[in-house]
Amino acid sequence: MSHVFPRHCHTDLPTAVSGDGCYLIDAEGRRYFDGSGGAAVSCLGHSNERVRAAIKAQVDALAYAHTSFFTSEPAEALADRLIARAPGDLDRVYFVSGGSEAVESAIKLARQYHLERGEPQRRHLIARRQSYHGNTLGALSAGGNAWRRAQFAPLLVEMSHIAPCYEYAERAEGESLHDYGQRTANALEAEILRLGPDSVMAFIAEPVVGATLGAVAAVPGYFTRIREICDRYGVLLILDEVMCGMGRTGHLFACEADGVAPDILCIAKGLGAGYQPIGAMLCSKAIYDAIAAGTGFFQHGHTYLGHPIAAAAALAVLEEFEEQDLIGRVSRLGPVFETLLRDQLGQHPHVGDIRGRGLFWGIELVEDRATKAPFDPARGLAGRVKRIAKSRGLLCYPMPGTRDGRLGDHILLAPPFIADETQLAEVAAVLKAALDGALAG
Ligand code: PMP
Repeated sequence: MSHVFPRHCHTDLPTAVSGDGCYLIDAEGRRYFDGSGGAAVSCLGHSNERVRAAIKAQVDALAYAHTSFFTSEPAEALADRLIARAPGDLDRVYFVSGGSEAVESAIKLARQYHLERGEPQRRHLIARRQSYHGNTLGALSAGGNAWRRAQFAPLLVEMSHIAPCYEYAERAEGESLHDYGQRTANALEAEILRLGPDSVMAFIAEPVVGATLGAVAAVPGYFTRIREICDRYGVLLILDEVMCGMGRTGHLFACEADGVAPDILCIAKGLGAGYQPIGAMLCSKAIYDAIAAGTGFFQHGHTYLGHPIAAAAALAVLEEFEEQDLIGRVSRLGPVFETLLRDQLGQHPHVGDIRGRGLFWGIELVEDRATKAPFDPARGLAGRVKRIAKSRGLLCYPMPGTRDGRLGDHILLAPPFIADETQLAEVAAVLKAALDGALAG
């Protein structure tokens, strides 16, 4: 009998024993194509030589040194490399162990920044509905996914939630993309005014919404307007690129495509590519300087900050991106994958929308294409697609519909950047077969 506490108590999971490129292999020798990179994590596949060698070398040199005593070579080199590529005036990197910790750190840093500047009344965080920022209580409070929040509601910190930029579901008939983007962004200004402009500390959003909506990018102009509004009211802009960052969309940082730079940027997942648990929060020079000139101490920390082995792995991931031109590859493969998905699923009566960027794609399932009505969540359609696809050797990431009926089932795809066109064609074909199987069952 297993003593591991699994996420789902009544599922019998195969045991993963090894990896080979884009494939995971279980104890029975079955191979699974990692079509979702786990949860948009495994961007280099599962057997990358460079990352494995970097980890081994770092274990031999130094495994761990607490950051109150030392910095480390890999953490310094990784921070330099990230900042050299980061947008705007992002200038400092705070390394943590994953996405939720990066978001928690961002929320607390935003608060401390305003305190240091003599604005203790700034305490409100505005986020968006149908977003996901992590599962720790602060990050969960920021997230706007009703299903994930429900059980823990009494423990959550009160935060505001405005509508996401979700064109497929929420753009009004006859409204231009531009007008829709501006209208949706202006909801932020309205909320800041409602709360009182001097009381708002930050706004947080995912440039491409991952785990809740399924690869939904904002329409052009939306984030430019958001940036203007934040600047106007002295509100910090936190972008959560935990899922969509690190090359996944064809840019190292997803916000590059939107032409905006945040004050704080959160990354994780692809940063360590699954080889090590690591996340990071990048912050602007102005924020760092305010802390340095004030208390000189960020009142937040975790034991594994800047872990040398994790940093060495992430450094090797970035080197691999550069040497293999993997982000260029994602940009080239993005439209190929889109065409393959549209060929297989574009006319499907129960596929409402196919959207994404780079190698980050979402498929929204609907009962009725004309009305965009979702399936009854009790049917568990996305979960069935996942199970059937897995039985056919494809891993894809299901997002169940919510019981309030406001959000239908989605499937998220985030294959490794090293995937080739033949493999992507197979992903699209197996997914179509799995969907048909799930609908028939
Ligand atoms: N933010 C976003 C946008 C995410 O997608 C996730 C994870 N799915 C998180 C934060 C939390 O990251 P972690 O699971 O590494 O704590």
